[in-house]
Formats: sequence, C-alpha cells, structure tokens
Amino acid sequence: MNLQSPHKPLYLLQLEALLNRLPDHNRSEKLESTYRRQLAGFIGESSLPFHFENLNTNASHLELYGLRLPYKHHFFQIDCLSLWQHILFHFEVKHLKGKLDFNQSGQLIQINENGQEEVYDDPILQAQYQKQKLQQFLQQHGFPHIPIKTLILFTHPKANLQFDHPMALPIQQFSHSIQQVLETSSSPHIKRPQLFEIGYFLKNQHTERFVDVIEQSGISKRKIKRGVYCQHCRHVKMVRIYGTWQCPACKRKDKYAHIPALRECVLLFGPYLTNRQVRYFLEIESIHLATRLLKQFNTPAFGWKKDRVYDFRHLLES
Ligand SMILES: [Zn+2]
Repeated sequence: MNLQSPHKPLYLLQLEALLNRLPDHNRSEKLESTYRRQLAGFIGESSLPFHFENLNTNASHLELYGLRLPYKHHFFQIDCLSLWQHILFHFEVKHLKGKLDFNQSGQLIQINENGQEEVYDDPILQAQYQKQKLQQFLQQHGFPHIPIKTLILFTHPKANLQFDHPMALPIQQFSHSIQQVLETSSSPHIKRPQLFEIGYFLKNQHTERFVDVIEQSGISKRKIKRGVYCQHCRHVKMVRIYGTWQCPACKRKDKYAHIPALRECVLLFGPYLTNRQVRYFLEIESIHLATRLLKQFNTPAFGWKKDRVYDFRHLLES
C-alpha cells in the first residue's frame, strides 16, 4: 500500500519553474545537471510501486516515497521506505544508466554510451548515514526496535554495475532479493496496527524543502520571464481581452491561464505575495483586475491596503 506515493519533490517543481521562466542562454550547465539528477530520482522512485505490487506475499506492508524528516535541527531524506512487521527496507534510489563503478576516492562514477563521465557522492556512505538517523529518529519517538535493511537500488534497467557490494541491488534482482530477506526474517517485531501507526507518523513528519532557487543559481531576478504564457505555444505571451486570456498566435482563449503562471511565481518567489508583486509577475496594470483574480483563489490574506499579503502555501502542495 502506498501511504505516500512517489511525487515530484518541491525542489524539482521549483527547478522546473525556474527553467521554464529563464531565457535559453541563461540556463547554465550546472542548473540543467541539477535538474536532470532530481528528475532521474523521481523517475526511479515512480517505477517502484509496480515492483512492490508484484511481490509474492500476503503480508501487510506500507511504502512511503520521498520522505524528508526533521532530525536535530536539520532534515534527512529517505527515497523509499517499505515497512513490514518484521523489517523495514530503506532504499536509496539511483536511476542511472551506463557503466557504474567506484573510483579510488569512493565516488560513484557513471560512464555513459558516449564515454562521458559523471561523478556522484558515494551512495553507500550516504545511505548508511541515513539509516543511522532513521534508527535514532524512530527510537527518539518511542517506537520499538525493528531491524532496518538498507539497499542502494539501481532502478534504471540499463544500469551496468561494475562492482559487487552486498548493499547494491539492480532492479532486475529486486523481487528475488526482497522475497529472500522476507522469508528468512525472524518473527514480527510489531503488531499490524503499530505498522500503520509508524507509517502515518512518518507521513505526518514529512516536510518539503523550499529553496530560493534563483539565489542558489546565482541568476539575477530581472532575468526571470514575466507574464502569462500560452500552454500550447509555450513561448507566446497571452493578452487579457474581455475577461479572459487570449493567445495572439493560436487565438486560443483560456480564462484560467494565470493560474499556472501564479503557481510558478510562488515556486520562485515564495508563497506570500502582495497585489503589487502579482501584478508585476503577471504583467497586469489594473490593481482591480489583480484583486479580482486574487479573490478567485479564496486564499487567506492578512494586512491592509497595499501591504495586504496573500498566503499561497496551498499552491506549493503537489
Ligand atoms: Zn497559443
């Protein structure tokens, strides 16, 4: 059962909004690479529910994806956690294709078909740290001890592992390995209701990360493209005519075209916006039109007149 389905993390949505709102020549290789890595992680996680559903078992189990949990004034991340009554599987997901090996400094090296190399942090070390934190986190919140099995799961069918490590698992061996661990596990450590209690507790502790992606990328705010864009023509700005938005190129009308634009504004600049900021981003001149559009969202607001701030936190929830 998916207690928390694979979902695009907030950071990935923010990177998408940033790339969408940047002119091509302002997209740095570093930004594109960060985006590709985040997207690959999401694709890898998204492939897992299918594999869990195909396990040959009647035992209760819960899966949580993309967890970010608070720990000692910081957070730690778990790509996928599968909870059973006698064991917890903790997966660090790597969706990488091509030859994969470790260099002498313990970094993971990916060599793709063109012979290009990409360097990644040691996933084994990363996963071990996360396992320790998860153990301490559960203990700190008073849950009984359950053994945790940590695995680095290589989800890409074309991952060609050049090394052998007991924690590394290619997706083709997923069912066999998990089944084997389940069959050799000792008696249950928790009862079925406790399994759900832990699952819901972890789900409620999950906290998304909001990053100032503009500042992180070192881009000037003035480079961000403003306006309401046509969803079909992509690069054409719509104009406001007779209570709707119209694309001057394809002539399509869309009453709600400002909604995705405002969502991108929130992903880039944060969820608290004034009427003036909304007008600036959507390129609306009329304060009354902006007020009317803002009212459609039925969103909480505080402050008065020009200092009134609208709370768009709900637009950050995926
Ligand atoms: Zn159009």
